[in-house]
Amino acid sequence: MEKNEYDYVILGAGLSGISLATKLKKSNKTVLLEKSDEPGGLVKSIEVNGFWFDAVLHLLHYHNPKVEKQLKKIVGKDFKSIAPKADVHTSYGVTKFPFQLNLGGLKKELAIECANDYIENAYRKPIKVKNFEDWLIQSFGKKMCEVFFFPYNNKMWKRSLKSLGTRDFVWNIQNYSIPKVLNGLFQDDKKIEAYNSNSWYPIPRKGAKKRCMGLLIDKLKAPIDKQINLNEEVVEVDIKKKCVTTKSSTGIKQYFYKKGCVSTIPLPVLQKITIPKQKKTNLKLNGVLYAMVMMKGEKYDTSNLWDYFSQEEVIFSRIIYMQNFDPHSAPNKKWSVMAEITYKAEAKKIDPKKTANAIKKNLLDLNIVKKKTDFLDIHFVDHKYAYAVFEKSTSQEIRKVTKSYASKDIHLLGRYGKWQYLSMAQVFEEAVAKGEALNSL
Ligand SMILES: Cc1cc2nc3c(=O)[nH]c(=O)nc-3n(C[C@H](O)[C@H](O)[C@H](O)COP(=O)(O)OP(=O)(O)OC[C@H]3O[C@@H](n4cnc5c(N)ncnc54)[C@H](O)[C@@H]3O)c2cc1C
Repeated sequence: MEKNEYDYVILGAGLSGISLATKLKKSNKTVLLEKSDEPGGLVKSIEVNGFWFDAVLHLLHYHNPKVEKQLKKIVGKDFKSIAPKADVHTSYGVTKFPFQLNLGGLKKELAIECANDYIENAYRKPIKVKNFEDWLIQSFGKKMCEVFFFPYNNKMWKRSLKSLGTRDFVWNIQNYSIPKVLNGLFQDDKKIEAYNSNSWYPIPRKGAKKRCMGLLIDKLKAPIDKQINLNEEVVEVDIKKKCVTTKSSTGIKQYFYKKGCVSTIPLPVLQKITIPKQKKTNLKLNGVLYAMVMMKGEKYDTSNLWDYFSQEEVIFSRIIYMQNFDPHSAPNKKWSVMAEITYKAEAKKIDPKKTANAIKKNLLDLNIVKKKTDFLDIHFVDHKYAYAVFEKSTSQEIRKVTKSYASKDIHLLGRYGKWQYLSMAQVFEEAVAKGEALNSL
């Protein structure tokens, strides 16, 4: 069996593992172990028959000016500012996104009822918030919940909203002041408040060899590319021996670490392969199935980047219009969309054939695709680790587990390593901070 010695062993070469490796002192001998045949994790570009897609649609959002400066230096000129614009489809009508700021899209009486409930709620004695359902009612009032927040979140989480905790996963829902909500009753398109307006996406020149967000990983990994070992699945982490074992087509290998091991692989996976056995935590999650739908014929006429769908009869929760991100992401006279379908990871596998038929039917019914014969192909990419599900005790359990691993020189990092909702910029920021902390030891 091959044995190797390193200062740091990093498990996983997604955005967090790669970002950390670029920050660790060069004098440290560091290796990244990645089970896939390509680095990047969720941040990957995929080419199918001349169409370009993101493995998961990503916009680079900047919230911290320091991180913005660092990342802009890395990504260069190909990344352009792009303002997220979307519609929200409900069983009661269509509004602009975010729903709570654009009630004017609904029928007048319904819009007034939603706004009225929102105002009354703000002045009412707060209810005791015990779960996510309570939190939604407390934040938006009953009517907005009935029209959009309940159906959409039921579709997204596929489990009772009462079983979910109140914190940690409300990252994509914002509260606004009453005047802003009232203003939304009268808004036209031009006045709509941009959501995450400091967002960036790669738009390279026509004919470029590669497109989509995988370009971020290419630029970021350049200085540490040689340290990444691909096609090596981590199958055991022995805390006492300070040894990581991997399995690949060429056999079993051992990697001993002197200073530390940083895990960015999903926490439940790490817990399963740690020796001696760790106390189990009951972490739940939702996966997301990406359907990359390729078409010819008349392109859907919208300037939106994506649309949300809360209706139960529509299989997807979001449709992404790829050419509105990057006009050159499809071959000439062809076009594409990506459909996002979330699923409960513990539920039985989604049948691709049935799913493809349901997607096509919905796209035709919604008039996004004009003719059945316009469909060319559908390519599926499944991400089992997409959305951590936070129940009441999840955050507390994670804190305990993190502390326990840290005491054994195993540092948890990244969206699934730490089991936290983190955007790409946040993942980068945390990896930089971890690199600085380890360098100072
Ligand atoms: C649907 C969705 C939409 C999103 N949209 C946005 C967005 O618009 N903007 C934004 O900023 N962020 C977005 N994010 C978040 C962003 O994708 C993450 O923050 C980021 O990609 C996480 O990187 P990571 O390295 O922590 O995890 P990962 O990308 O999961 O990397 C972990 C790596 O570990 C590897 N691995 C796993 N198990 C093993 C093993 N046993 N052995 C070896 N290797 C292993 C995996 O193959 C992977 O390469 C989105 C996430 C999702 C799910």
